[in-house]
Amino acid sequence: MDSFTLSQLHGIFQEVQQKQDWKAALDTLFVSLRGSFVFDNVAVYLKDPRTSGLDVAYARAVGRGKTAEADSAWGENAANEVLNTGKMVLDEPMLARGHANRLTLTYLLGFPLYIGSKLNGALVFIRFGGPKYSELHIQTAALQTFWTAALIERRDLQEARAELDSVQRQMRLQDDFVSTISHELRTPLGFIKGYSTSLLRQDTVWDEATQREFLNIIDEEADRLTRLIEDMLESARLQSKTLQFKFSPVRIDALVRDVATRVNTHYPNLKVSFDIDLLTPILGDAVRLSQVFENLFSNAVKYAPDSELVITMRSNGDKVRVTFADKGEGIPEDYLPFLFERFYRVPGERTVTGTGLGLYICKQIVMAHHGNIWVESVLDVGTTFIIELPVAPTL
Ligand code: ADP
Repeated sequence: MDSFTLSQLHGIFQEVQQKQDWKAALDTLFVSLRGSFVFDNVAVYLKDPRTSGLDVAYARAVGRGKTAEADSAWGENAANEVLNTGKMVLDEPMLARGHANRLTLTYLLGFPLYIGSKLNGALVFIRFGGPKYSELHIQTAALQTFWTAALIERRDLQEARAELDSVQRQMRLQDDFVSTISHELRTPLGFIKGYSTSLLRQDTVWDEATQREFLNIIDEEADRLTRLIEDMLESARLQSKTLQFKFSPVRIDALVRDVATRVNTHYPNLKVSFDIDLLTPILGDAVRLSQVFENLFSNAVKYAPDSELVITMRSNGDKVRVTFADKGEGIPEDYLPFLFERFYRVPGERTVTGTGLGLYICKQIVMAHHGNIWVESVLDVGTTFIIELPVAPTL
């Protein structure tokens, strides 16, 4: 078999480099160089940082013994030897001639994988029934090893960067949250303090209607404070997974209608219409599920104030699907992936108060029911929240 020209190699490496996914890149690397180096199976073994044992991170069967793809135990000894010695391992049978079943003879070639200058794994090739590895084969395999290590290092860097991005976003959200929350706490406190001071003034006599009006405001603002503090505690409990759920049969349609009636007493202008198929009761926590729907109603009131809210409910035997669709301003597509994160609020000019906890709480509750919640939104058309709950979650 011929060796590759430099320009052919360059083409192959460019193709490998362009593959975003490291496993797809390895596929290309091994398949493209088969013209110069043929093998049956290849596997990448990496050290597990927690157990310090070896994990199979990648395995491909390309030649004989294709079924061995998932079972990469064949290379484990060679991989361990590579890791112990830090050197290439060539393991070929001494007496191949006259052997009854040549294919049971294994020819192994293993290389150390240095990732970020640390010996972190091994790349092992196998040929069933030979032939022996030539000098050119070994050189090609060494080149592939070098590339494999570079691709794994690239993967590690990509993962580390994604994690850093997420941590940085979370820190920014926490910062925003502190300013939001101080505003959210101060506003109701300001009302309560102001109206109670007015009522207590010695120099003024308020008529009864005014007194009632002031007391009503104080009462409502105290409720708002309670809700806010409840939300903060709830989100902390949900995050630390210390919130207890009590599951029992729940009729979702009745539950959503109850919540709607309650919301309507506070917001008589909110128009809600229902489109409900006959629903089977589900196993769920009625109090927590009410909370999910209250949040969706409250968001519709806040972010789509003049729009009708259309609620549909369907079941398909083992799942119930509830959708809340409004015809509000909608949410720009770029922000949609973050909507359910703790403290996340869509940036921009804001007149609407909020903490960014509502949808996070919804998602945690739905997930505790082994369900799913997501959003679809089109600017100037509207926003739809979709919730899917299993009828009988395995708890
Ligand atoms: P909050 O309402 O306290 O800001 P949420 O977690 O309930 O927090 O919502 C997160 C963000 O999602 C809101 O800040 C808002 O920008 C956006 N949002 C939620 N519901 C809607 C809706 N129905 N229409 C448009 N935007 C919405």
